[in-house]
Amino acid sequence: MKKVRVRFAPSPTGPLHIGGVRTALYNYLFAKQNGGDFILRIEDTDQTRFVPGAEAYIIEAFQWLGLKFDEGVGIGGQYGPYRQSERKPMYKQYADYLLENGWAYYAFDTAADLDAKRKEAEAQKKTFQYDATTRDGMCNSLSLSVEDVKARLESGAPYVVRFKYPADLDITVHDLIRGDVTINSNLLDDKVLYKSDGMPTYHLANIVDDHTMEVSHVIRGEEWLPSAPLHVMLYKAFGWEAPQFAHLPLLLKPDGNGKLSKRDGDRLGFPVFPLQWTDPKSGDVSSGYRESGYLPEAVINMLALLGWNPGTEQEIMDLDTLVKLFSIDSISKSGAKFNLEKARWFNHQYIQMASDDRLLPMFAAELAKHGVQTDDGYLKRIIALMKERVHFIPEFWEQTSYFFVAPEEYDPQAVKKRWKPGTAAHLREMMALVESIKPFDKAKADELVMDYVHQHELNMGAIMNSYRIALVGAAKGPGIFEIIDAIGVGETARRVERAIAVIEP
Ligand code: GLU
Repeated sequence: MKKVRVRFAPSPTGPLHIGGVRTALYNYLFAKQNGGDFILRIEDTDQTRFVPGAEAYIIEAFQWLGLKFDEGVGIGGQYGPYRQSERKPMYKQYADYLLENGWAYYAFDTAADLDAKRKEAEAQKKTFQYDATTRDGMCNSLSLSVEDVKARLESGAPYVVRFKYPADLDITVHDLIRGDVTINSNLLDDKVLYKSDGMPTYHLANIVDDHTMEVSHVIRGEEWLPSAPLHVMLYKAFGWEAPQFAHLPLLLKPDGNGKLSKRDGDRLGFPVFPLQWTDPKSGDVSSGYRESGYLPEAVINMLALLGWNPGTEQEIMDLDTLVKLFSIDSISKSGAKFNLEKARWFNHQYIQMASDDRLLPMFAAELAKHGVQTDDGYLKRIIALMKERVHFIPEFWEQTSYFFVAPEEYDPQAVKKRWKPGTAAHLREMMALVESIKPFDKAKADELVMDYVHQHELNMGAIMNSYRIALVGAAKGPGIFEIIDAIGVGETARRVERAIAVIEP
């Protein structure tokens, strides 16, 4: 069997959509499962859509996600260069081959000519198509005399090279996900393959590169399925063996109504890009998974399951497990709905699984945003105690700030509900008991305070939550004696006095 070689071939036209990340992921899983190569090719033939910074963004996104390419832009390899703009000189010979063998023709129609044809067709409620039925009426090497064509080319007149579909031919694309997809050539437009400025279009460059890079499988988004018949025909025209195709289902909006778009993310509260992106022209900022506090493994796991599943109930799968279990056969044909709750759930799971050491720098960075520096030993202890409550990295601060800084405000609703006349006196008595234990011991403190609560027949919920309000600022947090143990008895006493001074002046 031919060596498995797959490529991810983004165009650097902006930030990478999360659907593109899933395409790359499926390519990666398939390659690794088969001991194959995973290639990064940058398809930048359309200079008008080129966006500065997009290529660097793509590379950084995959570094963050931990998906390593074996070959390509930024890595190198023996099939390079891997940026199409750098391959420009090699495409002409292929365009020439198609022209010489009757698979393509020169077209000299101006933009205005084409526009007029389109308008004419529209007036008759039709769509203009450059094809076997219209070619003869257009300005091209099929309709003009040989001399005229020669003269135009010699004078340097601008032209494009168009593919010449044979009329009324059924073209079948064998798709590994969808089975055979057949379309008649009469329904297809003679696509532009090459332009007189020496640039190939996507179609020609893509086929030439896939062939010369010995790509065995083309795994890409469903939006490329309409281009696949042309690609199949190009392989045929060149006499090359076509790679196998797999067109992946779309990623849909959470309600299933249409494709997940750039705008959906920030509107619905989840990122559609792996990393934050600042548009170089408008300066608009779009959120990214990394900056929103997702762990890359969670993003990978969640994306893997948007359009594929292992056929069991298993949901948590790291990259190695995914490599083992993945199969193109079990990719679904229908679109996959993005699910925010599920994304949140995955991230929570992966934060729980992450070691405290790994979380340490991430959480330290969150603290630094709030001007807090602390020693690693203390921070690790708080991480171990609190990570189960965190879904996204930035939540760490909301959940734990009181371990680092004393509360300045006390949740008025909690105070109203829990803080009774006499609370201050009881808290002071309880504090004295806690201070009497030397050295401090959580279990002992718990015992003494509980005895006190029972002896004085206090309402347990009210008094313990008042204690909590004093230490945390709200009726939340882990066990009260855990908090005291972490912040220290002295700090606890100060917080109790301060709360009393503010709440019961
Ligand atoms: N350059 C195309 C894109 O931006 C690649 C499509 C393909 O994989 O053939 O998605």
